[in-house]
Amino acid sequence: MKPSSFLYFAAFGVKAILFRRKAPILGTIIVTDKCNLHCKHCSVNNITAVIHPYEQIRQEMRQLYHMGVRILFFCGGETFLWRDGRRTLRDLVTEAKAMGFLIVNVVTNGTFPMDLPEADLILLSLDGDRQHHNEIRGDTYDSIMKNIRGATADNICLYMAINQINKDCIRDVCLTARDAKHVRAVSFNFHTPYPDTAELSLSREEKARCCETIGQMMKEGAPVFNLKSAFPYLIENRFPTPCHQCVVMENGTLSTCGRCIHVPGLCDQCGYFFVAEYTLLFRGNPKIILEMLQTYLKYI
Ligand code: SF4
Ligand code: SF4
Repeated sequence: MKPSSFLYFAAFGVKAILFRRKAPILGTIIVTDKCNLHCKHCSVNNITAVIHPYEQIRQEMRQLYHMGVRILFFCGGETFLWRDGRRTLRDLVTEAKAMGFLIVNVVTNGTFPMDLPEADLILLSLDGDRQHHNEIRGDTYDSIMKNIRGATADNICLYMAINQINKDCIRDVCLTARDAKHVRAVSFNFHTPYPDTAELSLSREEKARCCETIGQMMKEGAPVFNLKSAFPYLIENRFPTPCHQCVVMENGTLSTCGRCIHVPGLCDQCGYFFVAEYTLLFRGNPKIILEMLQTYLKYI
């Protein structure tokens, strides 16, 4: 991270903590909900299958920028399916950088070639060892690993959503993050139980065991892009929700925190680690502040 970006985020954090400011800093634009996969745990793919046009997305970027957002995520569906004429995802990332966003990340299922060095991080879903990943995401593990090996930059961060199927695969994904070329780290979430995937959610005890494994892997040197100090809050689901410093834009509609905010009762069972980490940070939790500084400076 550039020192100027660090100072910008530090100043934002101080104001948010001291003055309880709720202005956003992290924004996500859903470029399409079209997806080439139908993962078992997913409730958001191919609802409209519309690929939103470049000008609309540029307008949404401008709106987020003027609201104060400086960390931008492009998300799907599958982001690498995005096209508008000759424009591709790369054009969205370079446009966002030119507009002034300080960190621009892309979320992907990894089934397309990973040639996007312009992105700060490519968050690539890997949901376990070959068997468990394929059970959740179809027969994609080998092609994903091939795309990781063929990536043109070391900007990949694995992204694992832990659920009933893959809860015993944390170690496998940590070792892949540690050993695979082009991979910088791994970031975890617990399954957030939309009504149609509630059976995949983890109990308190299961979450505690998962956090224990992640903590152990951190001790053993695995590059985990999460904050250990947030684990007790995630296990008990006792972090504040929603995250007011995060916004999502989908087809012109702006939501606070996530598009899931519209699902009744879901925030009480939120499994997104970033929500716990950010909300605790902006409440001024000293352990989280310290660990976030160390972790973000290491991986971004
Ligand atoms: S790749 Fe992502 S958007 Fe597509 S089905 Fe899987 S979880 Fe859903
Ligand atoms: S479930 Fe609620 S708190 Fe969690 S990401 Fe969605 S909107 Fe945010």
